[in-house]
Amino acid sequence: MKIKIIKGGITKIETDAIVNAANSSLLGGSGVDGAIHRTGGSVILEECQQIRNKQGKCKTGEAVITTAGNLPAKKVIHTVGPVYQKGENKEKELLANCYKNSMLLAKKNHLQSIAFPNISTGIYRFPKQVAAEVAPSTIKSTPILDEVIFVCFDNENYTIYKNLLNYE
Ligand code: ADP
Repeated sequence: MKIKIIKGGITKIETDAIVNAANSSLLGGSGVDGAIHRTGGSVILEECQQIRNKQGKCKTGEAVITTAGNLPAKKVIHTVGPVYQKGENKEKELLANCYKNSMLLAKKNHLQSIAFPNISTGIYRFPKQVAAEVAPSTIKSTPILDEVIFVCFDNENYTIYKNLLNYE
């Protein structure tokens, strides 16, 4: 399994699946969620609505899959990261579940490559260094896809990931 780090926006990544840091409503939001829906178009929201009608809200740590609309990726996997409180509400475990369940859902849909944003490290306030200590280690313990890309939008996350994974 290849692991890559890219600095930039996830909506430009050509891969089998990109992951959205969604909220439990699945009906869109700000940050990376807003960018994905804006760029991908209304067909993504329509599929999210259908999923909601069928199964209700998406629980923290779980994931669902939709079309990618106008995005260069084939599919979007929407996962709901934990809101960071004091680290006493199983935030790390829930964040690990996001990465693991997204990988499993990709595999189940015969997808081989996946790109992740830095889930929960924006509005959900997860400390970036702690989140980065969860993400790659969870991926490495679930080596079921050919390629995983960590897409770091902000400089701080990019530096943390490069240091952690020993990239130049
Ligand atoms: P959350 O609610 O899970 O914290 P946010 O979207 O607020 O979700 O932030 C998660 C991460 O996504 C942050 O590190 C933020 O810098 C990053 N981000 C924001 N826009 C984009 C984008 N277009 N592509 C990739 N990452 C993005």
